[in-house]
Amino acid sequence: MQSCTLLIIGGGPGGYVAAIRAAQLGISTTLIESENVGGTCLNVGCIPSKALIHAAQEFHKLTGYSADSPLGIQVQSPRIDIARTVAWKDGIVGRLTGGVAALLKKNGVHVIKGWARIIDGKTVEVAAAPGDDADVVLRIACEHLLLATGSQPVELPFMPFGGPVISSTQALSPAVLPQSLAVVGAGYIGLELGMAYSRLGVQVSLIEAQDRILPAYDADLVKPVQTAVRKLGISLHLSCSVLGMNEKGSALRLKTSQGDESELPVEQVMVAVGRRARVTGFGLESLMLDMDGTVIQVDDQCRTSMRNVWAIGDVAGEPMLAHRAMAQGEMVAEIISGKQRRFVPASIPAVCFTDPEIVVSGLSPDEAKRAGIDCISASFPFSANGRAMTLDANDGFVRVVARRDNHLIVGWQAVGSGVSELSAAFSQSLEMGARLEDVAGTIHAHPSLGEAVQEAALRALGHALHI
Ligand code: FAD
Ligand code: NAD
Repeated sequence: MQSCTLLIIGGGPGGYVAAIRAAQLGISTTLIESENVGGTCLNVGCIPSKALIHAAQEFHKLTGYSADSPLGIQVQSPRIDIARTVAWKDGIVGRLTGGVAALLKKNGVHVIKGWARIIDGKTVEVAAAPGDDADVVLRIACEHLLLATGSQPVELPFMPFGGPVISSTQALSPAVLPQSLAVVGAGYIGLELGMAYSRLGVQVSLIEAQDRILPAYDADLVKPVQTAVRKLGISLHLSCSVLGMNEKGSALRLKTSQGDESELPVEQVMVAVGRRARVTGFGLESLMLDMDGTVIQVDDQCRTSMRNVWAIGDVAGEPMLAHRAMAQGEMVAEIISGKQRRFVPASIPAVCFTDPEIVVSGLSPDEAKRAGIDCISASFPFSANGRAMTLDANDGFVRVVARRDNHLIVGWQAVGSGVSELSAAFSQSLEMGARLEDVAGTIHAHPSLGEAVQEAALRALGHALHI
């Protein structure tokens, strides 16, 4: 039997950040992870998907140049060796997960590779593998137990993963590219990876239950992405559900909201209909924690309903984003060390890494209205931004939302090429309580996409200069 002050189950961005910060604060910390540290994010999520997306964009750019490029660049028949692309992506993953392992070691975190099983709120067993009959290697007693077990892709019961039906994890490591791919779910993963596969030359179809793609975002923001989707030749099946594969496994059976049924011949199907918190298979039931639907219920300090049992990241609900998990992990470590902290961010920015990208931070005009805040909002289009023109990326805009009475900024949204990098400025302005005048009065470097941020603020004040 070993013992520690803080025991963390799960070494994803939530768990590993909590472990590093706790160790920095002198807390004796043990982290149990069954796979490589880094979790979904570093191994099969954020990082590998962005690598594949980048490679696909580069390849597609070259394909475009082989036609009549207005930039005057001519390229003859570019080809992609997908095995090398995957190896390059795996190299990045290896560098980052290796880096996290080194940081954990340097800070003195005791990392145990194995499957954690909860005995009670202060005792955890480690087995060699998941499953009730797996050999127990070790028992650990702790003062604080932090649950950071993340999430798993939702499986459609009538179309389980296997054979031609894949999850994002398999889609990130193709041995060969399929001729055609149907993507079920036009949310984050469906759009990010669906567009990447299309840019790699695969015939992609998107099947979405709602009547538009990316239904979580407001319609104006999605419009430029929808234009890009159509330009790529991706076929859209909206207000449509899937019934399963046909008997031969060669076509996907579809049903529209009007009840019309059809078959879509396809080589592979990626199911991306959401992720669910990982709350089973490790004895969590024994704690009888209060749940919020299918996720662990936590308060604004990430405390669960049991004293000294904490939960962070995807297992504690939406938004299931890596930076939220990290922020919660850091906070919990600091609270355990005695600091006063609460999780009340002014904004948790979200980026959809399509091309064009979408970024949102704080409230949209509709959300502000629903919250009863009287707001003004203004947008500035990239078609009037010099830097966007020089990047041959004029589509999209930046929008600001601010209180009408005192001009306090409550939200930012943008869509366009490379706008994910604006998320830092957006969130800083919200956390620092900036007003329209603060952003309008800040000198933004020329030429840059950021000038559209300043111009949106100027426009909200009624005196934009470049439109
Ligand atoms: P996870 O990263 O899921 O880590 C949980 C860890 O716990 C896992 O490593 C698991 O092996 C381990 N574990 C679970 N149970 C046990 C047990 N009993 N014993 C031992 N170990 C256990 N988010 C973004 O913010 N930006 C993005 O661009 C982005 N892109 C994504 C792309 C894809 C394809 C996917 C699938 C997700 C993406 N996400 C993105 C979401 C992001 O990956 C998650 O929000 C984030 O990883 C959650 O972190 P976490 O620490 O809560 O859990
Ligand atoms: P999602 O919630 O983003 O999208 C799922 C989509 O599937 C929705 O549009 C939904 O209407 C649709 N859908 C659900 N059931 C369906 C069905 N039976 N048939 C057709 N359509 C159906 O989920 P996701 O794309 O799987 O991503 C999971 C989570 O991972 C995200 O919510 C996000 O938290 C995280 N993620 C984040 C990023 C990022 O930050 N850039 C990228 C990828 C994933």
